[in-house]
Amino acid sequence: MSKYYITTAIPYANDNPHIGHAILFLYADVMARYQRILGKEVYFLIGTDEHGQKMLKAAKEHGVPVADYCSAKSAVFQNLADQWNITNDDFIRTTEKRHMDAAQKFWQEAEASGDIYKKKYSGLYCVGCEAYKTEKDLVDGKCPDHQKEPEILEEENYFFRLSKYQEPLELLFAQHPEFVYPQNRYNEMLNILKNGLEDISVSRATDKLTWGIPVPGDDSQVMYVWFDALTNYITALGYGSKNDKLFKKYWPADAHVIGKEINRFHSLLWSAMLMSAGVELPKMIAAHGWITIDGQKMSKSIGNVIDPLKMSSDYPVDAVRYFFMRELPFDSDGDYSEDKFIARYNGDLANGIGNLTNRILVMIEKYCAGTVPKVKNVDHSLIDFLKNEIWPAYEEGMGKFRFDRAMETVWKYITHCDQKISDSQPWAMAKAGKTEEVNDLLYHLAESLRQIAVMIWPVMPETAEKIITQLGLDTAEEFAKPLEELKNWVELTVGKNIQTPEPLFPRLE
Ligand SMILES: [Zn+2]
Repeated sequence: MSKYYITTAIPYANDNPHIGHAILFLYADVMARYQRILGKEVYFLIGTDEHGQKMLKAAKEHGVPVADYCSAKSAVFQNLADQWNITNDDFIRTTEKRHMDAAQKFWQEAEASGDIYKKKYSGLYCVGCEAYKTEKDLVDGKCPDHQKEPEILEEENYFFRLSKYQEPLELLFAQHPEFVYPQNRYNEMLNILKNGLEDISVSRATDKLTWGIPVPGDDSQVMYVWFDALTNYITALGYGSKNDKLFKKYWPADAHVIGKEINRFHSLLWSAMLMSAGVELPKMIAAHGWITIDGQKMSKSIGNVIDPLKMSSDYPVDAVRYFFMRELPFDSDGDYSEDKFIARYNGDLANGIGNLTNRILVMIEKYCAGTVPKVKNVDHSLIDFLKNEIWPAYEEGMGKFRFDRAMETVWKYITHCDQKISDSQPWAMAKAGKTEEVNDLLYHLAESLRQIAVMIWPVMPETAEKIITQLGLDTAEEFAKPLEELKNWVELTVGKNIQTPEPLFPRLE
């Protein structure tokens, strides 16, 4: 069985999650679920990043010990994953011993390669970013992300010889154009690479930062964010420990799903770190765009931050998952507004899939005594359309993180089925006593519904399972079948007794 290892960036848990964190988890979850449908053995990792100055500051503001603060915040992220039906296999926290030990081991490997050295450094430091800035990073002397002038900081730190990996990275980019996905993000990284890479500071003096992983052999320094956080992707698998079964099995990762703002740290720095430590590189860095709220950047000062936990308690979680995956193309930014959400909900869900499911089930109840009929005459127009156009377009979209396109394709088929019903008027056929024609049509519609359920499962698992159950099938049994069987016109539904139809998505006013 082929394997698939997928991870998300680990959110910095100094505050409660916002909608961007939920969307990050969601992108990876949809891909993880899709890979499971394809029959792969999937391992899916998420977690929280918990060290650093901002964490200490937040804990102090709340008057609690920093370790307790981390645990409380991390638990909110874990709850978010549960509420949004994220199917992660593991959740790593960077304050866990398993992570800290392995991150130290990784450091030692890089050090053994001669890539870590000590240097006095003076620079412009933005506390908000926890990063040194160069003059060209600043706009009017301020960090553009935090609208603050950076502090001048002088200290002795360990540096990572990133510049040494200039050529190996150029080679990687030339040989593997698929390494950074999508294309626009690859181009952005290639431009940064072409400008030349400088060595990067990877530790902080403990008088400045005491909440971190100690540098091996030097208690006066702790690891700085990236050498700590990035290694989670392998420490969670047991890298560097006696129990490295998962690491041997699943590494290299098939995809690191991240936001575009941290692409350079993954595509360039993490790659160089892995080369230095002699660890294989991941196959793909998949960087998604940002979300705006009513056309504006989401920010605390504007007061338009969306709480994903509130959203999933106000609305069915499947509707929320569907909205974001349908509305946000992976390669660009997308926008949320409540009006857009309600329009999609009523249009695509209540009137779309909800109505179609209900129509079909009600007709089976009425014209076939609640049992999916056998087929006599195969409707090739419907079968060929699904097989030759819908499934290939769906699979193309799903495989490329273009869940928006995949869902658009499914809805094309939903519209097609609705049209089929309106055109053939089964109620008139029934009235005229054309039982065979009615049976043939309802068989095709029941089968269509079953295939629609399979296609939407990665995005809307609860809805998919409800449809399968309403068709009289067993969800566990169905989803255990290989995709080749699920997507064929087999008589899976024939003879099944459907359940009393129940509306999937009652309209929102
Ligand atoms: Zn900043």
